[in-house]
Amino acid sequence: MKIICIGRNYAKHIAELKNDVPQEPVFFLKPDSAILQKNKPFYIPDFTNEVHYEVEVLFRIGRLGKNISTKFAPRYYAEVGLGIDFTARDIQQDLKQKGLPWEKAKAFDSSAVLGAFLPIEQFEDINSIPFSLYKNGEVVQEGNTKDMIFNIDQLVAHTSKYMTLKIGDIIFSGTPEGVGKVEIGDRLQGYIGEQIMFDFMVK
Ligand code: ZN
Repeated sequence: MKIICIGRNYAKHIAELKNDVPQEPVFFLKPDSAILQKNKPFYIPDFTNEVHYEVEVLFRIGRLGKNISTKFAPRYYAEVGLGIDFTARDIQQDLKQKGLPWEKAKAFDSSAVLGAFLPIEQFEDINSIPFSLYKNGEVVQEGNTKDMIFNIDQLVAHTSKYMTLKIGDIIFSGTPEGVGKVEIGDRLQGYIGEQIMFDFMVK
């Protein structure tokens, strides 16, 4: 399976990193070796001094598809989850400046945290899902999928133009503002609405 991550999909997060608003979705991949799940602890890798959390709503692909139209996109995902796109921000800044690919900053082991998934039927409107991230009991990120620049149907349509979506693939749909550094000993808890989706420690 593959993990497709959307970059620059919330205006206030684009502003905090001083990036430009994209004309079409920006995406990159993480390998399956990046997955961290079941609330296992995250170990900060030794090659970076600045790992940032980015809480994101996840969509799991439930049907094989290519060149999917926006109209039919809802047939291709069946579950919604919450996760973290861990990012070595110091390395990413360096790579961005040099115009190099981002994998060292984005695709490392344990950089794709997968929390729980919920069936799509549980949501009245997937384009209005509130979510939040708590660090050591304090809210650090709050978002709502209604603020996405490109909604999930547009993301499915766009990404499937370039690569076949397969059952089990996961889309990380972008992070809202409030990203920040993790330290050893931090506890991270993610919520969709009132429902806890993950709860793990940084080591
Ligand atoms: Zn992200």
